[in-house]
Amino acid sequence: MNSHSAFHLLEPAGDRVPVVLDSPHSGTEYPADFGAALPLSALRNAEDAFVDELYGCGPRLGATLIAARFPRSYIDANRSVLDVDTSLLDAPWPGPAAASRKTQLGIGLIWRILDSGEPIYARKLSVQEVSRRITGYHQPYQKAVKDALDDTHAHFGSVWHLNCHSMPALSSVISEEGPGKPRADFVLGDRDGTTCEPAFTAFVARVLGDMGYEVKVNDPYKGVELVRAFSDPAAGRHSLQVEVNRRLYLDETTGQKTPGYARLARDVERLVKAVCDYAAERGSHRCEAGHDHHDHHACGHDHGHAHHHSHGHDHDHGHGHSHDHSPSSRKGGK
Ligand SMILES: [Zn+2]
Repeated sequence: MNSHSAFHLLEPAGDRVPVVLDSPHSGTEYPADFGAALPLSALRNAEDAFVDELYGCGPRLGATLIAARFPRSYIDANRSVLDVDTSLLDAPWPGPAAASRKTQLGIGLIWRILDSGEPIYARKLSVQEVSRRITGYHQPYQKAVKDALDDTHAHFGSVWHLNCHSMPALSSVISEEGPGKPRADFVLGDRDGTTCEPAFTAFVARVLGDMGYEVKVNDPYKGVELVRAFSDPAAGRHSLQVEVNRRLYLDETTGQKTPGYARLARDVERLVKAVCDYAAERGSHRCEAGHDHHDHHACGHDHGHAHHHSHGHDHDHGHGHSHDHSPSSRKGGK
């Protein structure tokens, strides 16, 4: 495992497949200079608790896993660096800024409020401290994800990326559709079909549906920066956001796992295994296009040659799509 103060990077432990998993919101290391007015117990409600652990099976199955160590409430790794809330600052922001709808809602790059509507700070933030959060946490995290995607794509010719989150069981008071709306078991976000091949979204939806889960697509979470920034389906770069309902594994009041955690962890492992198999079949297509298999060996990585076995398989994917293009909620994808 490679570690940076901002993230953990877990390399594939077995035969490598073209899959990258990232968990940007499960970090629990609260920096000493946070300076929040709210108690830790309140700030922790913003965590996608245990999501890094739920997907911890990834490296064993051949995927790369990146997990943030810092909390989302300190700086949100799933936002553009431009999404600065200048109303939080004690001086003019010297860099470019393009506040999005997220910042209007209070949950831009640096959150102003929690889901509950409570202000996080009882002070202004200095330009310097926000700059430090960007250069010390946000940028290293996004670079780690980009580097893993670039490296995997260079190696296999394609890459499939799951951007992994969890969502509250019910919409919050600052939700654009109003509070108290129940969420599906899983919500997949591909920004209305723009961040991955539609067949991949449909495949993941079907795998989860076959396990008995209710799955919605782009409703209400469409995906935000980490599925947008590095994806390019036409070039074989596929990113999909996966939100799992905290009701399935977490007591949202205490922050403790419920007995449902064990079953969910098993099912997430089945999902990751299915995605790894899907990617292993397709990521090797450059071999079918006449490339020399030894090109793969030359790079020195240890990865599985699933393509040796996949030729002639019936690629029975791409059915069961059930898009629901409702307007995005306040998070549009956490
Ligand atoms: Zn999240």
